[in-house]
Amino acid sequence: MIEKRAFYIGGQWVCPAAPRDHQVINPSTEEACAVISLGDQVDTDKAVAAAKAAFPAWAVTPLDLRRTYVERILAQYYIRAEEMAQAISMEMGAPIDFARNSQAPCVSEHIEGFLSALDRMEWAHDMGPEAPGTRIVKHPIGVVGLITPWNWPMNQVTLKVIPALLAGCTLVLKPSEEAPLSSMLFAEFVHDAGVPAGVFNLVNGDGAGVGTQMSSHPDIAMISFTGSTRAGKAISRTAAETLKRVTLELGGKGANVIFADAGEEAVTKGVRRMFNNAGQSCNAPSRMLVERPLYDRALEVARKAAEETTVAPAAKSGSHIGPVVNRAQWDKIQDLIQSGIDEGATLLAGGTGLPEGLNKGYFIRPTVFADVRPGMRIEKEEIFGPVLSMLPFDTEEEAIQIANDTEYGLTNYIQTADKARARRLGLQLNAGMIEMNYRSLGDGAFFGGVKSSGTAREGGVWGINEFLIEKAISDWN
Ligand code: NAD
Repeated sequence: MIEKRAFYIGGQWVCPAAPRDHQVINPSTEEACAVISLGDQVDTDKAVAAAKAAFPAWAVTPLDLRRTYVERILAQYYIRAEEMAQAISMEMGAPIDFARNSQAPCVSEHIEGFLSALDRMEWAHDMGPEAPGTRIVKHPIGVVGLITPWNWPMNQVTLKVIPALLAGCTLVLKPSEEAPLSSMLFAEFVHDAGVPAGVFNLVNGDGAGVGTQMSSHPDIAMISFTGSTRAGKAISRTAAETLKRVTLELGGKGANVIFADAGEEAVTKGVRRMFNNAGQSCNAPSRMLVERPLYDRALEVARKAAEETTVAPAAKSGSHIGPVVNRAQWDKIQDLIQSGIDEGATLLAGGTGLPEGLNKGYFIRPTVFADVRPGMRIEKEEIFGPVLSMLPFDTEEEAIQIANDTEYGLTNYIQTADKARARRLGLQLNAGMIEMNYRSLGDGAFFGGVKSSGTAREGGVWGINEFLIEKAISDWN
């Protein structure tokens, strides 16, 4: 069993003030794979004090030097990428090949993305003739608190830590207590990159403890949070008392609108996309809306794609999907699958219980429901497991109406050969991101939503700007 009780504070690994053990459970085996400590107020205060002390010097460190430190973090990742993949696979159940090819490489992809965004950043400008002599300059906002979830652990950590460092902020990271090992390894990268003491600090803890202590801390200027809508609201309430900036990346219930002219291949891709990472992605296309002429055929295709999806332990090599992260998520997903059956949706594939051949681990049967109606729980609630809901539609207007009738608005998807129609829908679907014909957004585009999905804009120049605050100065010339 791995023992990692220390926190990274002020440039060194330090013992918690009053160690409180927390077991990290391997979701494939249901057995503890590591023990960490959950911090308390003393640890949080220590980390914030270290970040506060380091802020003045880091804020004025030349940008080129801050960039060099980030490049060194990237170099550390390349040396230790396999360790990173192993840590993620063990802590949250990503199959090892998926961890190697998709989860861990988030570190390098995002770092490279931010380094190139840095070249496009505008740090200061003079206002136009309407405001002669007035200059706008950007400053790092101060000490920032970063709170991350377990589902794409390095994706969210690098989307926050790297722009904060480049912006000149110092920080305290609290990774998910479900998946802390990858972040602790990341802290080693930062240490070995020689980032000055106190600039980056890590304290493990849960939401009620360290998470809330950070959200209410008077010396933290901003919280950047990714996680559930529930926690996002709690953080916003707590942070209001100290008037912090709060940026939120929350849940989703993405619509994937498939027109008949997109063909059945679009259905297969949509199912696979839904089951990716065992359905644990906030931007998962969890509601598949299919135009009526394709609908019956789409059900057959989706059933086949689900039945071809294999489920196996994370340590096994291959293209299967793994377990979901923990018992609570497993129970919640079982309850939602049962609700789909009870509310009268047609179960095309999967269902409740463990997949055949597996008798332990938090595995879910790849599940597809047909004839789902707007308003059913499986249509409304974020499931966060490999469960797809399929709904037919007759007209473009109806598709838009169903797609937008949700509290969320993160990513919606449109599949059609008709470019004019795709653009029309792209403008009318209410979400922060629209992906057409399974083409990903280009490098440097942001990630972020609207409504209950939160309104943060992470990645690219937007991601760096989130950690900056503007100052207007008169009589500059
Ligand atoms: P969670 O909200 O339970 O936990 C996320 C993090 O917040 C953890 O570090 C947790 O310890 C902390 N936390 C929990 N309650 C808190 C509180 N009251 N105050 C401060 N911190 C608190 O979410 P999760 O179960 O880890 O992650 C899954 C959720 O995250 C899903 O809803 C998913 O859609 C969402 N998510 C969103 C995005 C996005 O970018 N929009 C990305 C990934 C995940």
